[in-house]
Amino acid sequence: MSASAPSKITYTSANADMTAFHKSFDEALKAVRAKLGKTHPLYIDGKPVEAKETFAKVSPIDTSLVLARFQKGDAGHADAAVKAARAIQKKWGALPWQERVQTLRKAAHFIRARKFEIAAVVTLEIGKSRLEAMGDTEEAADLIDYYCRQVEEADGYLKPLGKLLPNENTRSVLRPYGVFACIAPFNFPISLSTGMSAAALLGGNAVVYKPSIEAPWTGLLLWECFKAAGIPGGLFNFVTGSGAGLGDALWKHPGVDGVVFTGSKEVGLKVFHEFSARFVKPVLMELGGKNPAYVSETANLDDAASGVMKSAFSLQGQKCSACSRVYVHEKVYDAFVAKLVEKTKAIKIGDPTEKDVYFGPVIHERALKTFLGAAESAQKGGKILLGGERLKGGLFDKGWFAAPTIAALPLDHEIFFRELFAPFLAVGKVKSLDQAIAEANKADYGLTAGIFTAKKEEIEKFFDEVESGVCYANRPTGATTGAWPGVQSFCGWKGSGSTGKGGCGPYYVTQFMREQSRTIME
Ligand code: NAD
Repeated sequence: MSASAPSKITYTSANADMTAFHKSFDEALKAVRAKLGKTHPLYIDGKPVEAKETFAKVSPIDTSLVLARFQKGDAGHADAAVKAARAIQKKWGALPWQERVQTLRKAAHFIRARKFEIAAVVTLEIGKSRLEAMGDTEEAADLIDYYCRQVEEADGYLKPLGKLLPNENTRSVLRPYGVFACIAPFNFPISLSTGMSAAALLGGNAVVYKPSIEAPWTGLLLWECFKAAGIPGGLFNFVTGSGAGLGDALWKHPGVDGVVFTGSKEVGLKVFHEFSARFVKPVLMELGGKNPAYVSETANLDDAASGVMKSAFSLQGQKCSACSRVYVHEKVYDAFVAKLVEKTKAIKIGDPTEKDVYFGPVIHERALKTFLGAAESAQKGGKILLGGERLKGGLFDKGWFAAPTIAALPLDHEIFFRELFAPFLAVGKVKSLDQAIAEANKADYGLTAGIFTAKKEEIEKFFDEVESGVCYANRPTGATTGAWPGVQSFCGWKGSGSTGKGGCGPYYVTQFMREQSRTIME
């Protein structure tokens, strides 16, 4: 069967003719490279604003490559942005919901129209492979469409309620909270920023958006798409700067009514604990992961090795959903590990802006240090089966390249419980599904989990007992990764999230609104 060109790249796209894709990507990359080195402002109330200082955003692929300079926003900018957002929010919130849906759909259109440019920037900015960067971009547009559909299907969340008296007429309506601070991580810079802010806007809120300091250019492109869609200045403000400086000032601002945050458990917990000082305010958090897979003695080992390899090493292990620990039944342990190592050795490592490169650099020096520290820790009590070192020579000397790493570890090793956010997979030997589930549930996190087995009853048991919001079985395209809007809700349990309702899922948008019942006696 000959492969045909895909109409849309997702994280699980396979067997497609990619000629046209790569041609368009090459052109976009060339155009983006021609724009390197510019200095970009903040956008507050629709106007460009400069700070006292700027910072250089370099590429993790080549740290001598300055992609652009961005403003080091501070507390004063957070204040100005929140005030601008407050000034316009009521007008936006009072519009018929159909108008908000229409405007956001236009934003999805502009993201799709600029998808090669956005994906090229993502590739340079955070070191994602071409396909992953395009998946991120397509997901952004699909998220908007999916959330718009949610509002339509719920008829704008207007619902007649019951009567106690014949002349009593009550409706439930969902109303906006006001101003949301939207704080995004580096690793899915376009989809997560888009999903969080689009849902907040659809709910009638205004947004002050702070992209990761590692992905400000992608964030700026989102701002441009929203602007092109007709989202008025002030409603969506773009501020850049450090987490500790600008980020802290933003969520601590008394004019912020809610926070939507995706990032690490450490930062998330801090915000969660301190945000609601005067009264309880909504804090929507999607946090880290330490995602397990189980390979049973009846598993198709080729599928299992492919699925685990892809989830462990795509985006260099820097997905919240990355498979970072795999529990393998003792009867198939040796055979599975041999296949896993073989598949991992075949990964094409290099400059991810290049066609067919699967594996690029980690995001920054800190990530590389965490990775090297884990390799050192693994030597104590465990054995590194592959990798474990910084890659050196040629292009590797220009950026932050870590080798894809697999370590066989005793089940109580600390690496089974700590999120590394690096290309580091821990492998453990177990005697049964029960033991695998018990080990999986020992970690504080509960984001994604995968199982490979030929037995249906094992799948059901795993789904029923594993403490995880996103579960997969027998998925060679990704043991624990690859969720898509409207296909897999992405809900973090335990230390992986705060609300019990996931992004990409059917209950997401309502979380940005509060209920009001309206009773009229007629
Ligand atoms: P991070 O927590 O370091 O940063 C996330 C965002 O918070 C960034 O914009 C950062 O500038 C900001 N920030 C940092 N300190 C802050 C503070 N004191 N106040 C306000 N903002 C602050 O995370 P990261 O390194 O960008 O991303 C990786 C983490 O995100 C991992 O833990 C990963 O698992 C998690 N993640 C989770 C999901 C999910 O859906 N569950 C998705 C992607 C990433």
